[in-house]
Amino acid sequence: MSRPPKPDNEEARLAALHGFDILDSEPERAFDDLVRIAAGICGVPMAAVTLIDRDRQWFKAQVGMGSPDPSLDTSFCAHTVLDPTAATVVPDATRDHRFADNPLVATANGIRFYAGAPLVTQEGFALGALCVVDDQPHELAPFQLQALDALSRQIVQLLELRRVSKQLRHQLQERAWYEQQMQHYQDQLEQQNADLSEQTKTDPLTGLPNRRAFAAALDGAMRKAAQSGDPLAVAVLDVDHFKTVNDLHGHDEGDRVLVALADMLKSQAAGRGMAARHGGEEFVILMPGASLEEARLQCEFMRQAVGLLPIGLPVSVSIGLAARSRDDTSETLFRRADQALYEAKRSGRDRVVAAA
Ligand code: GH3
Ligand code: MG
Ligand code: MG
Repeated sequence: MSRPPKPDNEEARLAALHGFDILDSEPERAFDDLVRIAAGICGVPMAAVTLIDRDRQWFKAQVGMGSPDPSLDTSFCAHTVLDPTAATVVPDATRDHRFADNPLVATANGIRFYAGAPLVTQEGFALGALCVVDDQPHELAPFQLQALDALSRQIVQLLELRRVSKQLRHQLQERAWYEQQMQHYQDQLEQQNADLSEQTKTDPLTGLPNRRAFAAALDGAMRKAAQSGDPLAVAVLDVDHFKTVNDLHGHDEGDRVLVALADMLKSQAAGRGMAARHGGEEFVILMPGASLEEARLQCEFMRQAVGLLPIGLPVSVSIGLAARSRDDTSETLFRRADQALYEAKRSGRDRVVAAA
């Protein structure tokens, strides 16, 4: 038996074959159909589409062969790929020196007839063969040989189509993946922007809204109050002699006082208004719906609550407050509250002063 030699361009041929990504793929109806047509036209019981891999013969489709032999040593088609220009026809294998002692031939009911048309790509690589096989010696009429050639070209077309559609599917999947990634990045950006915008509104030490957030809330509350005619009050609260707290107990201790004070103000304002850190040891309280007298009571309550904070230090606050009058803008209302705070400081601290 003559073992089929390797084609000269074997490595390039294998690269081309592997580029089709067809080896070990599932059976496909279109290939099965072409194999049946080949067997029918040639009047033989067996036919196959084979692909010649580096060390095996793989069957994409076959009819009448049971479980065909994948060995390259006994492969007829491995001979066919040696000449991409013509079909290999073996009318009686027992009389052909290449195949006479092939185990597939030298057996009862073994192969007698073989014809294989190479599957040749556009680049000229023979990937495998469309073959027809019989256990009887056989001749092919010219029209049958032409049909076998034509069908082998159809099979290459099918392989090309299959490859292109796979590439397209892959590109579509990649595109979907990229779109998903873009969406992911966009979500992250939006989240970061949301975090940033939150940071621009929040005081990092106390977690209270900051001066900027307070200014926006005050403007909103002023507009609402102007529309509804409901009262609105603003208080400015400043820790008395806070510099001394820092000087005597350290800046960290000072921070703890500010946080404890902020927590108390937050819970006091919860549900009815807003407490914010205006800067340093100064806080502001927005009291929508509160008349000057109601606001004064609330502020007095807060002033006393500061004295009860469990911080282990004697801390007091001064508070100035003002209620919105018809002529007030956000600025004038705040300024009147701030002037009242100044008055509270000037007149002895630890007290609440309401602007007239
Ligand atoms: P007054 O009763 O007149 O308000 O006296 P004061 O000492 O509270 O006022 P002053 O404006 O002289 O000092 C405010 C101090 O608050 C000085 C500053 O170091 C301190 N301070 C401002 N922000 C912070 C902060 O975030 N943490 C701490 N620990 N101290 C702060
Ligand atoms: Mg102070
Ligand atoms: Mg101050």
